[in-house]
Amino acid sequence: MDVEIITIGDEVVTGHTVDTNSAFIGRALTEIGLRVKYKTSVGDELDTMEEALRIGLKRAQVVITTGGLGPTDDDMTKRAIVKVFKRNLIFHEDVLEEIKERYRRRGIDMPAINQNQALLPQGARFFPNKYGSAVGICIAEEGRIFIALPGVPMEMRQLITDEVIPYLRSLKTGQTIKVIKLRTTGIIESALAEMITSKIKIDSSINLGYLPSPCGVDLRIIATGSNDADAEERATSLAGQLVETVGKYLYGREEDSLESVVGKLLVERNQKMCVAESCTGGQLGMAITTIPGSSAHFNGGVISYSNDVKVWQLGVEEDLLATAGAVSEPCALAMALGARKLFRCDYALSITGIAGPDGGSEEKPVGLVYIGLSSEKRTFARKFQFGSNREFNRSRAVYASLELLRREILGIV
Ligand code: ATP
Ligand code: MG
Repeated sequence: MDVEIITIGDEVVTGHTVDTNSAFIGRALTEIGLRVKYKTSVGDELDTMEEALRIGLKRAQVVITTGGLGPTDDDMTKRAIVKVFKRNLIFHEDVLEEIKERYRRRGIDMPAINQNQALLPQGARFFPNKYGSAVGICIAEEGRIFIALPGVPMEMRQLITDEVIPYLRSLKTGQTIKVIKLRTTGIIESALAEMITSKIKIDSSINLGYLPSPCGVDLRIIATGSNDADAEERATSLAGQLVETVGKYLYGREEDSLESVVGKLLVERNQKMCVAESCTGGQLGMAITTIPGSSAHFNGGVISYSNDVKVWQLGVEEDLLATAGAVSEPCALAMALGARKLFRCDYALSITGIAGPDGGSEEKPVGLVYIGLSSEKRTFARKFQFGSNREFNRSRAVYASLELLRREILGIV
């Protein structure tokens, strides 16, 4: 089934709100094997909205909109639906009761204007919204499926995950899909593909996607089968072969992240880590502490951006800085060692490099990063040459350092 996603809102077309809704929906629908063919954004203007809906329903079997379902005058999606589908809005007592109940729980009287939200198109199916008062609207007509969702990202995501995906899957009669995501890092996409295609023959009922990002390359398996068990068996079988083939590069599955995997390994061993960051300016510490409960394995860190702080806080020798420079292997070693002593941890990671765009030289080009790791057992550093983009270099450094630690803990060489 082909899909068109239409995001609605003046703030979306003017760029005041970045359209993350269509990105989320695009990913979620692709994962269940639908083909997202078009994405459109329109402002809060009835005629334009109506035009977009008509075009969408002509060229795609599934049209999903977000935005404009609120109770205020600028929320006009329902008015566009009335015009396109020629259906009246009818008052739904049960929906109003739910909205009222939502306000009661928050201890506020429902504003009268919210009554509008119980006015819904005739003959539609409704998807309950856990986090807000605008219900999702679904109209199936002449082989076309139209779904309108609220614009608030949290509400939209819940509706897609809990309601829309199961509904669309149930329509795809005779075929089901199983998706498995394997997460790799420390190897580039083309090398990974070469490794896989030389060893594994992939069945035509399976789609294997390579999804690169600064933290690595994800492998996404989409297996199609005649029923759930069949799809599951195909996906699991390929996943097993992939795990064997990509081995040490595989750090997790599905929602695992490098920071969560490293955190888990440390907690299991009752160990702690700390960081000393220069060019990443705290980004590594931030990544680690994104994981709830990270205090169990993370003691803290130093953002030693200047040479002075490297000396004062981490005990890096001034001579070393004068001879080898701050972006050097000896400095990364000294930073890691200094941090481990300062924070009394089992492991310390250090990052020092040239993020760019300025500050590079022939000898030390932009993207050069040294990452140090210190433990009771040993202290060592690795040299990395990333690219020319500052943000990218900083992210790559964060993930490369976490991967270095993951491999050190697991004894992977
Ligand atoms: P409400 O009941 O809050 O009015 P609504 O369905 O009318 O919900 P909108 O008013 O269109 O939704 O959007 C609500 C908020 O959701 C916007 O202020 C915006 O911050 C966010 N939002 C809307 N569309 C998008 C989008 N495509 N991507 C990301 N955020 C969005
Ligand atoms: Mg609104």
